[in-house]
Amino acid sequence: MTQNVTGKEGLSYTIVRSRRRTMSVEIQPHGNVVVRAPSRLPLYEIERFVELKSVWIMRRVRDAEARKALVPTLDGPRSFYHRGSVRTWGFTGDGADLIVPSRLRTENAAMRYVERWQRSEADQLFAEMVADALPKIGVPGLRYQGLRVRTMRRRWGSCSSTGHVTLNGHLIRVPDGCIRGVVVHEVCHLAHLHHGPAFHQLVADVYPEHALADAILDAWTHVLYQEPFTP
Ligand SMILES: [Zn+2]
Repeated sequence: MTQNVTGKEGLSYTIVRSRRRTMSVEIQPHGNVVVRAPSRLPLYEIERFVELKSVWIMRRVRDAEARKALVPTLDGPRSFYHRGSVRTWGFTGDGADLIVPSRLRTENAAMRYVERWQRSEADQLFAEMVADALPKIGVPGLRYQGLRVRTMRRRWGSCSSTGHVTLNGHLIRVPDGCIRGVVVHEVCHLAHLHHGPAFHQLVADVYPEHALADAILDAWTHVLYQEPFTP
């Protein structure tokens, strides 16, 4: 059972009642506030709970809205994120950014085409960025064994002790500077398999803008979890 409420300070939220004993507040990536509550709890008790937490909630909502402002919104079912901007696909004559062969008649087949196109773009761009970063870490760069691009649910990348770098194919959706930040991070693990001071120093030497890139990437995290083509 859900109910939309606007509280005293103009804070809007959705109450979701279920068989649970406690209350919780969740701020969703776009700043929507969801309050979960036991099914029979009176409304005034929920309102009081939200009021007590309102300063904390407002701050979290503002953070979420600031992050959202950094990320453009998809405009329609034929739009998708590519290298930090919104692109559209279409069949010939649609004026789209990416033209899908008209023999692929169904939307599903077209979307799979777009995904394959993005994957090949990812393979090429990521390989270039790795090749660019490797010489900058010196001799440990020789430990590099190769690149794997995979779709991962919760990680941007990883680096194994055997010298394999793995990058999340969905990274092709975020701005180039952010992709470079992840690439440099993983490549620097070839020199240091930890997150100690020496590692951070190397990352900063190779890519001085990495902190800004990481902060922007943070704002894009919800795009990683998104299925493609869901505005
Ligand atoms: Zn790491």
